[in-house]
Amino acid sequence: MISEKMKGYVAGSSAIRAMFEEGKRLAEIYGAENVYDFSLGNPSIPAPERVKSAVIEVLNEEDSLVTHGYMNNSGFEDVREAIAKSINERFDTNFGVKNIIMTVGAAGGLNVILKTLLNPQDEVIVFKPYFGEYRSYVSNFDGVIVEADCDENFFPDAESLRSLITPKTKAVIINNPNNPTGVVYSEEAIINVAKVLNEKQEELGTDIYMISDEPYRELAYDGVNVPYLTKYYNNTIVGYSYSKSLSLPGERIGYLVIPNELKDFDDVVAGANVANRILGYVNAPSLFQKVIKKCLNEKTDVESYDKNRKLLYGKLTEFGFNVVKPQGAFYLWMQSPVEDEKEFVAKAKEFNLLLVPGSSFGKSGFVRLAYCVSYEKIENSLPAFEKLAAAYGLNA
Ligand code: PLP
Repeated sequence: MISEKMKGYVAGSSAIRAMFEEGKRLAEIYGAENVYDFSLGNPSIPAPERVKSAVIEVLNEEDSLVTHGYMNNSGFEDVREAIAKSINERFDTNFGVKNIIMTVGAAGGLNVILKTLLNPQDEVIVFKPYFGEYRSYVSNFDGVIVEADCDENFFPDAESLRSLITPKTKAVIINNPNNPTGVVYSEEAIINVAKVLNEKQEELGTDIYMISDEPYRELAYDGVNVPYLTKYYNNTIVGYSYSKSLSLPGERIGYLVIPNELKDFDDVVAGANVANRILGYVNAPSLFQKVIKKCLNEKTDVESYDKNRKLLYGKLTEFGFNVVKPQGAFYLWMQSPVEDEKEFVAKAKEFNLLLVPGSSFGKSGFVRLAYCVSYEKIENSLPAFEKLAAAYGLNA
């Protein structure tokens, strides 16, 4: 018999699996080209060519016992050093090898840091809407997720945050650029969050860590600034991933940045190192650590995502939908024309459009569209969206 807790996780996962199965079912009936699946955040741009040559170089040129061997649980020192240097150059920071821990993607990094920090019943605040997996990651370590509001721009609402902080608050997760809204939080919004956290730490005499989950950092459009959060709040830990920035989600590679200024720095670093091991990751994949070192200046094709964004946002707006203009990631957040967005998602399916209900992200009344699909797919989907709009009398 599986555990009660796992039964809950399985039930939660079945909604996503059901959507995936539905996409397959529709593709069999109507043909894959006539099904418009905007449900998955899987990059549609291949990894840069340099990744392939870097894999070959590492395999040909480096000692295979080292490349494929165990190493320090935090990762290869030369790789961590190179990453620290690259961050310092880009964000005017001052990190070194001891501030970087290589992880199994952002998901691995989040689980490592939550395992390191949480006692049972400790609270972790997230801003609605948020990446639904945070619920499982927090519950993995018997923490409690607490949902704060965003303001009308979908930026974190600092006063909502203030009202929810208790002596049990251990961490706040900030995800910027944001999944699911595609919004990029402004510097001012970050400063407001940092101010509340500093005031509350002082008032309660506790440590509240800000966890910056930023797998979409590189996917930002219109020259928008994505603030580097360690500069605004001392107790910040950054979780980064190459899943989206280099289109390598299956390779499971990312890192945590733990700055010297962090409260209990030495303990947190030691804890994260052990957490990496005892969660069963042991260390981040060794080959891809080495590959990343050679690809630090590589970029994904942000222009293609941007083209998709412009086309989809422009057309949906023209059809009369109320859409939040995305400035980052590859998601678009759209208001449902009816209160129950699940009804809207079901209606969209009648036109072979697959969307994700906002309630999966803790916020009903909206849907998420992932536009990491081909440009052609978006073009072909437009008549279906137009019919969907007409079904609700939009832009009549
Ligand atoms: N955080 C957010 C907000 C995400 O959207 C994702 C993946 O979609 C992750 C974390 C996990 O990413 P990774 O593949 O790096 O584990």
